[in-house]
Amino acid sequence: MIAVLTGGTGGAKFVDGLRQIVPPEELTLIVNTGDDLIWWGLYMSPDLDSIAYVLAGLLSKERGWGVKGDTFYCLQAMGDLGQPIWFHVGDRDLAVHLLRSKLMAEGKTLSEATKEIASRLGVTAKILPMTNSRVESRIGTPVGELSFEEYFVQRWYQDPVQSVHFAGAAEAQPAPGVVDAIMSANAILLAPSNPVTSIGPILAVPGIREALRETQAPVVAVSPIVGGAPVAGPAGILMAAQGLPVSIAGVAQAYRDFLDLLVVDTRDAAAAEKLRETGFHVQCARTVMKTAEDKAQLARAVVALISGASTAPASTD
Ligand code: GDP
Repeated sequence: MIAVLTGGTGGAKFVDGLRQIVPPEELTLIVNTGDDLIWWGLYMSPDLDSIAYVLAGLLSKERGWGVKGDTFYCLQAMGDLGQPIWFHVGDRDLAVHLLRSKLMAEGKTLSEATKEIASRLGVTAKILPMTNSRVESRIGTPVGELSFEEYFVQRWYQDPVQSVHFAGAAEAQPAPGVVDAIMSANAILLAPSNPVTSIGPILAVPGIREALRETQAPVVAVSPIVGGAPVAGPAGILMAAQGLPVSIAGVAQAYRDFLDLLVVDTRDAAAAEKLRETGFHVQCARTVMKTAEDKAQLARAVVALISGASTAPASTD
């Protein structure tokens, strides 16, 4: 079984590749819930949904979130009723939020609701929220502390970032199955997700980072930083705010205590060579995923690297 720690858009692209080459029953996805929000009174979990949609073949590839071909009649009607509409929710997407909120109002945990939604979408891979507790990524800015979605979607990540913290993390527990998956996996992959606000909240749940350090399985990360910048989004700004260099070295630093191998883009070959000199195992591959074939190719390359990851000497490619 391969366990994958993942967030939203970058994670979903990587998982889209993995699902093309790994049987679904061999995949366990451990998903960030630090972006979760209550919106229109409903419990929304954007990263859990992106992963469920991609595994169900429903994700909108143009937008990178939500359901492909969705309509937005409800969003428009809510706007007409004077409600905030900066967080875009499609009509079919809304049905998932309604079902999750209904299940949770009936007393189901987020894990149980996630399992039911995945099964109703026909997903056979195992999707686990990182925790059933409420852990919220909070971004400190000059205009005040913002939730991740306020910072990212509402305000287009224009505010200078002064701090990042994960409210509720210290009291949280890993969701059922998360630590078991890490301990019993044949390999653990960290998707090229934002290291600070997608992988960071997962690592902040007490017990998860420790399990990554202890597991016998090789832990392999794909860098979301390519050519010294994120492929998309605020990862660079958030890494800098956390005192991490915006480079593959910064990604390695974020995961240094448990990482066996970092997969970086071929265009970072020179930086990879420098990183190897500091003792990290680094391999180069084409990591920018534009087409279905790019995604499958990266997944194939990473899966091929897994077996030698814990013992391989530093690569020279
Ligand atoms: P979010 O919740 O939408 O922020 O989702 P993620 O954290 O999963 O994805 C954002 C990260 O994915 C960003 O840091 C991007 O740099 C990275 N990313 C997006 N597309 C690609 C890609 O094609 N290749 C690589 N290597 N990284 C990518």
